[in-house]
Amino acid sequence: MGYFKEVSSASWAFCEGLWITLRYLFKPSVTVQYPTEKLVPYERFRGLLLFDAATCIACGLCAKACPSACIALEAQTHPETKKRVPKAEWYSLDLGKCNFCGLCQEACPTKPKSVWHSLDYELAFSTRDDMVRCWKPGFPLAGRVWDPVQKAFRDPESHISVREVQARI
Ligand code: SF4
Ligand code: SF4
Repeated sequence: MGYFKEVSSASWAFCEGLWITLRYLFKPSVTVQYPTEKLVPYERFRGLLLFDAATCIACGLCAKACPSACIALEAQTHPETKKRVPKAEWYSLDLGKCNFCGLCQEACPTKPKSVWHSLDYELAFSTRDDMVRCWKPGFPLAGRVWDPVQKAFRDPESHISVREVQARI
């Protein structure tokens, strides 16, 4: 008797499984074939931080607002008067310390924002050095990395692709 009960319960579970599969077979798919197919996150998604040296006024408000103390910058100085110029000489951001809170973007007074979160979520780093992004005027928006061996800036080794640069408001 126990044997038949077991067979009947297993058959019932099997049919139930098939029924669930059949129900979902004709529904639209909610998954994508990552990495060949990629979802674009919502507009307010906080991905990789980008920086634009062309619009930055080197006010330092982003560095003051940052709770993780991961932003550093230096303003340019006039070659003759040595007075501070509202342009960044260099800007750096340690993504290893960043908690993606968005406070730097919020504090930035320029329009459009000079530091802002992109929609890029593919943040894989092979070394700690790769986490520290540096910008100088003319550098790409995703920044570059200082190579202590070559004593030069290089593009990050990690796979970073800024596919979508969201509107900066
Ligand atoms: S997102 Fe937050 S933690 Fe990261 S740099 Fe900006 S203020 Fe700092
Ligand atoms: S990124 Fe924005 S807040 Fe930071 S120094 Fe430049 S202008 Fe100021």
